[in-house]
Amino acid sequence: MARIVLPARQSLPNEEPHESTQVPSLYARALPLRTLASLAMVDIVDSATRSRMMSGIRGRNTKPEMLIRSLLHRRGFRFRLDARDLPGRPDIVLPRYRAVVLVHGCFWHGHDCNLFKWPQTRPEFWRDKVGRNRANDDKVHAALLAGGWRVGVIWECALRGANRDIGGVLTRLEQWLKSDAPSFEERG
Ligand code: ZN
Repeated sequence: MARIVLPARQSLPNEEPHESTQVPSLYARALPLRTLASLAMVDIVDSATRSRMMSGIRGRNTKPEMLIRSLLHRRGFRFRLDARDLPGRPDIVLPRYRAVVLVHGCFWHGHDCNLFKWPQTRPEFWRDKVGRNRANDDKVHAALLAGGWRVGVIWECALRGANRDIGGVLTRLEQWLKSDAPSFEERG
């Protein structure tokens, strides 16, 4: 049986391995969950498996999404966990309110906020990647609205930083869920 040895915290490299799907180190610092997960994976899986895991981690169950989900749950909201049949596989689906909530990471979704900066390395790659993510977001948003869903977007920058007001975000989200308004957005 293979022994799995994880590197000690202080011996971790500053730079993550070069891989197209990984967050550049500048952003990795802002995304501790992904960083830890990717570093832990480096030595124990092959690169194909790691790619799959990274794309899974990036897309599903990221930390801000889990936070919103658990706070909504605590306020008595119940949702569907598997939204594979809906455009964009939204993070949080509340059928009773005919609403979906998307929690967007500011880097991957190219938000015009202070959490987003273009990486210094491989600028064309990132412009292409983030540009496609943005275009896809627009398409998903429109498709959800067309399907009769109400769409809420919570940006990562609303949940991070010194001025964050997570209680306020949740209160406004709750008010929106109980309203008839088609769209909702929270940003930092
Ligand atoms: Zn943002």
